[in-house]
Amino acid sequence: MTLAASVAAQLKDPSLFTERCYVDGAWTGAEGGATFAVDNPATGAIIGHVPDCGAQETDAAIAAAGRAFQSWRKTTAGERAALLERWYALMMEHADDLARIMTLEQGKPLAEAKGEIAYGASFVKWFAEEARRVYGETIPAATADGRIIVQKQPVGVVAAITPWNFPNAMITRKAAPALAAGCTIVIKPAEATPFSALALAVLAERAGIPKGVINILTGRPAEIGGALTKSPTVRKLTFTGSTRVGKILMAQCAETVKKVGLELGGNAPFLIFDDADLDAAVAGVMASKFRNGGQTCVCANRIFVQDGIYDAFADRLAAAVGKLKVGDGLTEGTTIGPMINKAAIDKIQSHVDDATARGASVVSGGKVGEGLFYPPTVLTGTTTDMRIAHEETFGPVAPLFRFTEEAEVIAKANDTPFGLASYLFTRDISRAFRVAEALEFGMVGVNSGSVSTTTAPFGGIKESGLGREGSHHGIEEFLEMKTLHLGGI
Ligand code: ADP
Repeated sequence: MTLAASVAAQLKDPSLFTERCYVDGAWTGAEGGATFAVDNPATGAIIGHVPDCGAQETDAAIAAAGRAFQSWRKTTAGERAALLERWYALMMEHADDLARIMTLEQGKPLAEAKGEIAYGASFVKWFAEEARRVYGETIPAATADGRIIVQKQPVGVVAAITPWNFPNAMITRKAAPALAAGCTIVIKPAEATPFSALALAVLAERAGIPKGVINILTGRPAEIGGALTKSPTVRKLTFTGSTRVGKILMAQCAETVKKVGLELGGNAPFLIFDDADLDAAVAGVMASKFRNGGQTCVCANRIFVQDGIYDAFADRLAAAVGKLKVGDGLTEGTTIGPMINKAAIDKIQSHVDDATARGASVVSGGKVGEGLFYPPTVLTGTTTDMRIAHEETFGPVAPLFRFTEEAEVIAKANDTPFGLASYLFTRDISRAFRVAEALEFGMVGVNSGSVSTTTAPFGGIKESGLGREGSHHGIEEFLEMKTLHLGGI
């Protein structure tokens, strides 16, 4: 049995697992047949190969998206909504298989993967509905015989580059509003998680989305990114990933003045005041810090705990962390899967080593495990001179910083070039508003460890990005305003 056949055999619908790219409605390979391998981070086993595409294949995909745009832009909102609704229904119908593919290539526990499929699909349903609500505007004119009308039009061909931590939802959160707005799209998923992306293309084709409207290419990131950003046909780049790569892409987009949407790194502070409900705060940290093994851009990275409850909070958090179960995401009961790769493990360990060398104590975990598994870790006595205070750890490590004053913790929380998510726990309503309004972040969880939901704008300020995804604002990112000035009426 080939590798691919053995993965496909685990699925109810084996055709969802494909090792081909999807361009112009055809299942294609790279020039010369080059491929690269994708492995399962839980076992190290190769699960399949995908085409190793570069600039040439990207140019072909852009051309296909450009041709498809000419007819897709003329479809009615109702027609686009119906196709997106069908895509959504197929995602939900095949949620088990999509989740299994995700766990195999990304590692997250199967229950979490299923949660992501539902979350990812929810953007497709939401934007199917929003397609019908792209309203224009009329504006009083300066002359009696004048009229001013603002129309909304799709921006054109969109390029999307997505990360491995949410292999499904980071694609749907971009593709669904793009398609709903009347744009066509070329998507480059992360090298670690192409199969989740390609499975979405299988379902898009099955839903009847016309050829060229969605194109998915796997391959060499810098070369594909270079071709996408250079092309004058591509009018918008939407990217989720590291701040480092986001800056490169933004600079490359300057040449053709593309619209850019960037969801970049974070360094989320999590503030817990003396008057907080401690159990709720522990639950909040568990949700924010340990989801996806700590590999999300909204994960609490710096947990600031007020002096009066510091020790009690550390004990309760360590007890909760002790109940987490590290293992293969396909094993029943696993709550933390493997990290994505060796580099991730090395970075986590270097943060822990740096913190302990500078005086932090390891309450639980702290030492690298077998393979790509890292034990959930709680550190006490962490201070802001440590690397862990300034860099995103992207792993299951919870550093607890002690503070005494509200003003002091606000200043520390804001002392970062990043501005994505932040959290605060207090039972004082005035403090909740005061602190939330002082935090320089795009999102604030107040007595909540979760800031991601379909209906609310998601995004950051400062070096965490540009633009917002999800919510009714999400579709605006894929629309241009056109102003009609009428005279002689
Ligand atoms: P992470 O640290 O989460 O892997 P990256 O920013 O490296 O974040 O990756 C996010 C996405 O950006 C992936 O799809 C990756 O392949 C892509 N990428 C990485 N480098 C480049 C580049 N130079 N140009 C375009 N895309 C890139």
